[in-house]
Amino acid sequence: MKKTDHISKIKRLRTWANWNMAIGIVVMYLGYAFFAGYLGSFLERSYIFMTVMLILGFVMMMISTVLFMISGMVSTTSPQVECPRCGKTTKMLGKEDACMFCGQPLTLSDEEQPKQQA
Ligand SMILES: [Zn+2]
Repeated sequence: MKKTDHISKIKRLRTWANWNMAIGIVVMYLGYAFFAGYLGSFLERSYIFMTVMLILGFVMMMISTVLFMISGMVSTTSPQVECPRCGKTTKMLGKEDACMFCGQPLTLSDEEQPKQQA
């Protein structure tokens, strides 16, 4: 992966949602593993601990699902511009964003007016 200072906002949101989902699964699994006594006996058969962990993991997964939905909705409504560096069509969030493919910083100027109104 290329080192770039700029990461597309949609990409950043998706990366964040992805990690949130993964952590949620790990939290839920840990809750069960402690309950079953795989990871020591001090929290074994602790219903409260397992319930808290399951709810926490579930909430994190719900949040990341919502984030995925937002990133999907945003990417259908955001204006498309052609990247000047790599020539691919990328989507812009707000007035300043970066190319999803090469990380080229992009700004909405008069020359690159999007077809859709933001
Ligand atoms: Zn690009």
